[in-house]
Amino acid sequence: MLFRAHLLGPHDGMRLDEVADGALVVDPAGRFTAVGPYEEVAAAHPGEEVQDLRPLWILPGLVDLHSHLPQYPAVAMDGLELLPWLEAHIFPAEQRFEDPDYAALAARRYFRDQLGLGTTTTVVYGSVHPEATHRAFQEAERMGVRCVLGKVMMDRNVPDRLRETAEASLAQSEELCAAWHGRDGGRLQYAFTPRFAPTCSAALLSGAGRLAERHSAYVQTHVSENVQEIRWVRELFPEALDYTDVYQRAGLLGPRTLLGHGIHLSPRERGAILAAGASIVHCPRSNAFLKSGIMPLRRWLDEGLSVGLGTDVGAGPSLDLWAEMAMACTASGLRWAGQKAQRGRLEGLGLEEAERDRLCRALDLEPDLPIAPAQAFILATLGGARALGQADRFGSLEAGKDADFIVVDPATVDPDPGRSQEAEQVLCRLLYRSDARMVRAAYVRGRLCHRLEA
Ligand SMILES: [Zn+2]
Repeated sequence: MLFRAHLLGPHDGMRLDEVADGALVVDPAGRFTAVGPYEEVAAAHPGEEVQDLRPLWILPGLVDLHSHLPQYPAVAMDGLELLPWLEAHIFPAEQRFEDPDYAALAARRYFRDQLGLGTTTTVVYGSVHPEATHRAFQEAERMGVRCVLGKVMMDRNVPDRLRETAEASLAQSEELCAAWHGRDGGRLQYAFTPRFAPTCSAALLSGAGRLAERHSAYVQTHVSENVQEIRWVRELFPEALDYTDVYQRAGLLGPRTLLGHGIHLSPRERGAILAAGASIVHCPRSNAFLKSGIMPLRRWLDEGLSVGLGTDVGAGPSLDLWAEMAMACTASGLRWAGQKAQRGRLEGLGLEEAERDRLCRALDLEPDLPIAPAQAFILATLGGARALGQADRFGSLEAGKDADFIVVDPATVDPDPGRSQEAEQVLCRLLYRSDARMVRAAYVRGRLCHRLEA
């Protein structure tokens, strides 16, 4: 099948490639066999059936690296910081997943809404219940989404009905991994999912590290989200150098590890994460919602860290990764403005230059330039695929990769559709004015997984 449309996608992780009158050829195995200008591609594929989608645009499918399936029904419960919010709203919501039928229904809604917003790859935490996680995998398998999923593991500091023993948690997780990891040609993968250090004993953490290594599976957890949480981790693991070291000691820090948040990481922690090849998942709407802070995205990227984006539902209000990209830009802009204002105040104090520079460094007031929408889009596509170690399989529109792509109508979000169709401006409108109606269709490995009903 040959699709004719306006093509836009990341090229090499640094810039965007655009073909105004472009074409993609998808083979029966669900791979792109040709991508380029329509005239060229059509001439080289004379017998190919053509779907002319003009004036719509084709983009790579989005990659959401962090969210919580059982929290979707509990989004938008405002007013608390992380730890009391978990107690008041989230643990009760996750408890409902004791019922596998309810869990299956919730998973169907979750994947449907995600595909409807253009997310074709999702990395997601299940609840503590193995049967609910099994049913969620079944839904992902049926609906066609590319999915990395794991049963949450937690053996302390959670309500009794959600607490498991380390032995049971490890055994059930390994069983799920054996059933699902690598299924359907690698479309479905398993992530060992210790919730975060405070809810896991050292034995559970190191057991999860061993199993992830043994099965070449992913690891997902949270790190350095909230200042109170960091203090708690220090109390619970006095032998560790810091929060990141808790995971490193357990063998959980490696190239298949996804660390949610990472807002307040020290230079030592960033060095350890970089050396291990682990990735950080930036969830800026959640960070704002739970008053956790603004992650220094520009700084982390400049240091060479691998970063992708996540909606972190239910602290994030929706599965809209476009809005997450927009918030990544907004948050980095706010950080830049705040640093500049503070620096200006310091300069007004009439200090010696050397003293002023010392204070600027100590108070972290070297302004980091804001992130541009094109860069946020790259993080949400190829950046996500890279964090998963699968940039050779998806994340951009390139021949040889799997055909994970979305069909988008930019006019839906443009109050004046006669305006410039310059790619970066179109992308700005998609991000800042996102709306599920702009995503006409979503394909994973060439299979249509979502089509907008007229
Ligand atoms: Zn989370």
